[in-house]
Amino acid sequence: MLEISDLKVHFPLASGQVVRAVDGVTLTLTPGEVMGLVGESGSGKSTVGKAALRLVPATDGGIRIGNLDVLSARGKQMRDLRSRAQMVFQDPHSSLNPRMTIRRAVSEGLILNTSLRGRALRDKVAEMLEAMGLPAQFHERFPHELSGGQKQRVCIARALVLDPELLVLDEPTSALDVSVQAQILRVLRDLHKVRPEMTQLFISHNLAVIRFLCQSVAVMYLGRIVEAGPVARVFEAPAHPYTRALLSAVPVPEATRRPDRIRLEGDIPSPTALPPGCAFHTRCPIAEKGLCDVTAPPEVKLDDGRSVRCHLA
Ligand code: ADP
Ligand code: MG
Repeated sequence: MLEISDLKVHFPLASGQVVRAVDGVTLTLTPGEVMGLVGESGSGKSTVGKAALRLVPATDGGIRIGNLDVLSARGKQMRDLRSRAQMVFQDPHSSLNPRMTIRRAVSEGLILNTSLRGRALRDKVAEMLEAMGLPAQFHERFPHELSGGQKQRVCIARALVLDPELLVLDEPTSALDVSVQAQILRVLRDLHKVRPEMTQLFISHNLAVIRFLCQSVAVMYLGRIVEAGPVARVFEAPAHPYTRALLSAVPVPEATRRPDRIRLEGDIPSPTALPPGCAFHTRCPIAEKGLCDVTAPPEVKLDDGRSVRCHLA
């Protein structure tokens, strides 16, 4: 359903430096799969999501959504892309036009992409908003009259009303109060039950959220996927030292804490100066001199459906 192959997204800066935000990402999502994309801030997650929908230009590589070649799409194919793939962003406030009622916000995509008008349009929009927990009294309100959680429900309704085959969610709960986060997470979990055929790429830095919502997970570090596979396998027996470090940073009761706890020292290096070899070697507790700092590790497929990029895993 979504096939990203060797995607590179580089941003040239005025200084002449190049930000290698995404530097060779390959991901395959089957129809109906809910995949989590996790990694520290700055690892390139949002850029992957935006490039998949052509909201930022790809430097190199391939992207397919079903039978649609995203990077070469023009005209009608581009309009197809806009209705077949939708994105929900982190900050619902800045994703909504302050001068548009929420009914209009949700109607817009339908007016642009379908022939629905009048009563049928109104009904479809009202039904979608109600399914997202926003009853009729909200429909003529403006974004500033809504709470953060309500605004994010509008953004999800706006994405879903076009019946997309692919939904990319970029940290959709990170900007919300903790109490509201749980409600939105439940909405998203139900989504998979109501629309099991919709493929979802769920971007988050929160492993607990990914475990709650996703079947598979890809772990990203400095523009590359270091480990990917079924959530159950990756979380129970992480193979990459970076995955282990992320998992051991999740607060758990002292008694259940793993003895092999790994602390991530220092900050993620700048994507304008990627470390040679394995990009993680500068922070890796098991890196070997002469190997990890010299040679980029190849992707190794494990027999439980996982792939790992580490010389020592
Ligand atoms: P994440 O979502 O994992 O936090 P991003 O994809 O937002 O990571 O960013 C990855 C890297 O690319 C960061 O270092 C970020 O500063 C940089 N970046 C993202 N967008 C741009 C841009 N338009 N121009 C220059 N650098 C960018
Ligand atoms: Mg991001």
